[in-house]
Amino acid sequence: MDKYLNAALKAVTAASMICREIQGQLVSEDSITKKDKSPVTIADYASQAIVCSILNGEFPSIPIVGEEDSGSLKQDENKAVLEKIKSFLGDWNPDQIIDAIDLGNGEATDLFWTLDPIDGTKGFLRGDQYAVALALIEKGEIVLGVLGCPNLDYDEENNGTLLYATKGNGSVACNFSMKSSRDITVSNRKPEESVRFLESVESGHANHSDQAKIINAFSERKDSVRVDSQVKYAVLAQGNAEVYLRLPKPDMPDYREKIWDHAAGVIIVEEAGGLISDVSGKPLDFSQGKKLLNNKGVIGTNGQFHDMVLENIK
Ligand SMILES: [Mg+2]
Repeated sequence: MDKYLNAALKAVTAASMICREIQGQLVSEDSITKKDKSPVTIADYASQAIVCSILNGEFPSIPIVGEEDSGSLKQDENKAVLEKIKSFLGDWNPDQIIDAIDLGNGEATDLFWTLDPIDGTKGFLRGDQYAVALALIEKGEIVLGVLGCPNLDYDEENNGTLLYATKGNGSVACNFSMKSSRDITVSNRKPEESVRFLESVESGHANHSDQAKIINAFSERKDSVRVDSQVKYAVLAQGNAEVYLRLPKPDMPDYREKIWDHAAGVIIVEEAGGLISDVSGKPLDFSQGKKLLNNKGVIGTNGQFHDMVLENIK
């Protein structure tokens, strides 16, 4: 597992540093008011290109199931975007960039990587939280997860947090230089104590009225922790909140979660002692290709609150 972990850490760190640079240079008040999504597009593609090229360089036979493909990037009107990506990646030529991105068009097999090059595009554009999320799935089970969270403070130096877990070995948080690290565990608060929920900053994804009902059913609660993306899993795994809810939307009954939006975060929370299931309490089934076809919604807790949350959902 070490060879996979080392490559995954290297890939996610490299991508996180590029994303941080792009966010720093291109995300300004100006771009947000103009609803210009290009900074996140550039960072998404650059991140996927760099992760795929590193993983493919070391393990050419392991497919990568990534969120992005180069389809629209090949169109003429996106030449400027491609040029921008090139300016951040250094001496890559356009074909190399496109080929590297498309290494992420793999299919789910017995052993494959799954990648979200930027999870939390709204957070990214706000200059706020987002994650680079990479997991390795073997025979339908997550065996390794790495989350790069460039804007999640590891310590008082504001240097970002890299989290990882391999099956059976616990979860670790470190800074991106990996000079400092610590084992992490979920909080040990019990249902008779106060609970902290994790909520999105933006209300685009989740079903907020059902969510509010469930949250309000807990009388002893502290203010919710509001962050975008799989950074929620990072906060849960480090014991800084107890409950994460991603409820199905009633108006989208056929919607199913994508594997890359959860895999890395799920193993990091589980290996930190937490529990993850769908809204009916079933474990998430990562054996169904790109989507969690056998599950609806996702519930993550420190374990202690899990039954109580499921009871309230019913
Ligand atoms: Mg994404």
